[in-house]
Amino acid sequence: MPDPQHTAVPSSLLPTYARADVAFVRGEGAWLEASDGARYLDFGAGIAVCALGHSHPKLVEALTRQGEKLWHVSNLFRIPEAEALGQRLTDATFADYVFFTNSGAEAVEGAIKTARKYHAASGHPERFHLITMEGAFHGRTLATIAAGGNPKYIEGFGPKVEGFDPVPFGDIEAVKAAIGPQTAGVLVEPIQGEGGMRVPPHGFLRQLRELCDERGILLVLDEVQSGMGRTGKLFAHELSGVTPDIMAVAKGIGGGFPLGAFMATKEAGKGMTVGTHGTTYGGNPLATSIGSAVLDVILAPGFLDAVAHKGIVFKQKLAALKDQFPNIIAEIRGEGLLLGLRLNVPNTDFTLAARSEKMIVIPAGENVVRLLPPLIIEEAEMNEAIGRLEKTCMRMSGASA
Ligand SMILES: *Cc1c(COP(=O)(O)O)cnc(C)c1O
Repeated sequence: MPDPQHTAVPSSLLPTYARADVAFVRGEGAWLEASDGARYLDFGAGIAVCALGHSHPKLVEALTRQGEKLWHVSNLFRIPEAEALGQRLTDATFADYVFFTNSGAEAVEGAIKTARKYHAASGHPERFHLITMEGAFHGRTLATIAAGGNPKYIEGFGPKVEGFDPVPFGDIEAVKAAIGPQTAGVLVEPIQGEGGMRVPPHGFLRQLRELCDERGILLVLDEVQSGMGRTGKLFAHELSGVTPDIMAVAKGIGGGFPLGAFMATKEAGKGMTVGTHGTTYGGNPLATSIGSAVLDVILAPGFLDAVAHKGIVFKQKLAALKDQFPNIIAEIRGEGLLLGLRLNVPNTDFTLAARSEKMIVIPAGENVVRLLPPLIIEEAEMNEAIGRLEKTCMRMSGASA
């Protein structure tokens, strides 16, 4: 049956998305205004991109200030704005190097190349395989669809890029068993976002770190969704107390401006010398100025603690909602403001019902809807969200009764 809210709207855009027939024309904080004037509470944040909500004054200021000065010069020249952001990111993390990209897929692609090149530069070009996790999502380029392993994204696009060996998510014994003479490292999301807000068993990242050290392979994290403050830490791996060798970042890093990065320790990045990698747009003055403004807010004293606190408060309210509607909500998942509800009703129906209550949520794997509010969300808005989710559950109870 055709879904009335997913009718094919006539458009010249390549129809790779089943788009909802809603167009937003303005945003402010956690609110979006549609072309018909309706106001929506945004718990999608452009899929964890608008970390500071819509039209944050500090970001508007950075955009206009830099926009009037200089947008783009190419990486053939020094870019002080990129150097400044890179310095701040390396100061705040395990990494010694940063390479800026325009998207998450490019960031993961760069992370994969860095891991492969590390072993080539160490005299082991045969070590180009990465152990990956079932249910992963790493982007839509040829290498990242192969890394993600979802057949729906791979089929019909020619030979799959070689060198990705999937194991069940969170299964340390399976990782051990998969390590061979061609293994370069392990590629993993600390929390699987698209896969359904899946949190691995406690201690998994620590066990991976120890295993990688023992076997001389690299730990490569995809923090495209879990990073930039989402979990109440700047990066989700900080919750585990261990650090990776290489990491991919994007989504929240530009607050809505296309920006990503891959980062590495000096050792892991040793193969990436002059000429080995490049980008035309990546890290231009406009993008990196905005990235610095995002970081100013996220790293301001108290901001991340507030995200963690809001996450705990909101999760408690979700738990109460689950108790009220056990027929609708099966499980609450996630950390900080990277949250998901596993449902007992189809997540696509729930998403539509929430939209009828003027609230945006995002479906994910394992019949989950993701709740990804802007990190600047206020207590009153979280209460408003609980009210709208309650009404959504009531609608769904009516529908399933
Ligand atoms: C969104 C996402 C990507 C891909 O990012 P794009 O900007 O869409 O290319 C990669 N990895 C993870 C974990 C993501 O959530």
